[in-house]
Amino acid sequence: MSAFAAAVGWMGVLAVCCPRRAEAWGGHELITRAAVATLPAEQQAFLAPEAHALASLYCTFPDLNWPNQGQWGGGDGDPAGARFPDTRREWGISAYCAWDPVLGVGKGYPHAPPGSYEASSVHFRRALAALREGKYEDGVRVCGVLLHYVQDSGSFPHLQPFHRSARLRGPEDAFLGDYQPQRLTDNPEQAPEKVAQRVRELVEFTEQKLVAALEGTGLTLDKAKALCAKELTPAELMRFVADLREEHPDRWQALVQDAGRESGRACADVLCTLLSLAPLQAPRAPEHASGANLAFNPSFEQDDGDGVPDGWVVGWLDLKDRVGRAEWYASGTHWGSNARTGRHCVLLLWAPGENGLEWRQTWPQAIKVRPGDRYDCSAWIRTRSAGGVAYLAVQVADTDYSEIAVVKSQPVSDAPAWQESHVEVRVPEGGKWLRVTLYSNMSEGAAWFDDVKVMKQG
Ligand SMILES: [Zn+2]
Repeated sequence: MSAFAAAVGWMGVLAVCCPRRAEAWGGHELITRAAVATLPAEQQAFLAPEAHALASLYCTFPDLNWPNQGQWGGGDGDPAGARFPDTRREWGISAYCAWDPVLGVGKGYPHAPPGSYEASSVHFRRALAALREGKYEDGVRVCGVLLHYVQDSGSFPHLQPFHRSARLRGPEDAFLGDYQPQRLTDNPEQAPEKVAQRVRELVEFTEQKLVAALEGTGLTLDKAKALCAKELTPAELMRFVADLREEHPDRWQALVQDAGRESGRACADVLCTLLSLAPLQAPRAPEHASGANLAFNPSFEQDDGDGVPDGWVVGWLDLKDRVGRAEWYASGTHWGSNARTGRHCVLLLWAPGENGLEWRQTWPQAIKVRPGDRYDCSAWIRTRSAGGVAYLAVQVADTDYSEIAVVKSQPVSDAPAWQESHVEVRVPEGGKWLRVTLYSNMSEGAAWFDDVKVMKQG
């Protein structure tokens, strides 16, 4: 089985179709929320700033780690399909999963047992290391990857006909009541193996429930496993599951609920163990020195090999537009260059209609800010036969990564020579993250951007 043959988890199809945020009724989100709710108060308080993102997005990361992100046709070559938003890049998902399917760097694990046991222990170790290094958001994001593998393990991923029909109906199907999460060990060295063991127990639990649900149907667990070992979705088994659901809807939904709740208990145990081994210091917003450029890769010189400047992502604001292009521009000849400094800049070409097109900073490279602080932001812009406008915008988002303010520079419409655009931002109440975007619209031509600066005012 290829690494991602069983990549689609609880409501994974929905998560892939709506990659920006998993839908409210997705199983991953329900299970994560239920697990977090069982944790001791101090662990919940520690997770609180990232708890919404953990449940609504981070625990779906492995289902979003596909090379089709940002590409046409939704990954299945549908010529009528829209472009996929590049959520993988926007959130640095490949780095959090420690597997980059574009560069082929790292290791991708199957979401199904037995590979998911090792994946759980590997990502537990990584999440703990990040939290111990004080990398709070990074630690919680890797924790989301870890929870994904636990949750998928409890949804019959090795029995795809069952897995594909397993849908939690709502919070009730993940409800854990007054469950007390178990610390699996106090020993950090042994913890990854204990986590793998807990996931193995989860799979055994769900298989036992399946054995009970199959009673009197003529099908056994071993027979189902043998069929699925030969083929991902054997037609015979697909029919069987459809019949079972129709003839015994209560029995089916009880099975799904049992699996969902046990997945939640396993997640609660894993989370409780992780957080009992991590220092629970509330993250403090950093004190930025004034005069330093806080923007990552501000001149677009750095790239890890995928042809897109590190720390930047294309915002495809019209997913059906077939014309606009966003490119990492490299100087082409010895006599001419459209990079202002260094060898590179970014280019927006033929940016479409009112919606336009933009380059934006990825979330892992967003700048953490504090309410009341002021920032000077700038970028150099040059246009050629552009029409429309190009500008620099600065976005401020809250702790849930929702935009609460955006400030735009004076629009540039005809600038054959490089000119600097400025924006001054005062972080409003509730503001936690600042990102720069470089925008162009209604363009028949090109807009280049270079040398971004974000400086805290003294
Ligand atoms: Zn999955």
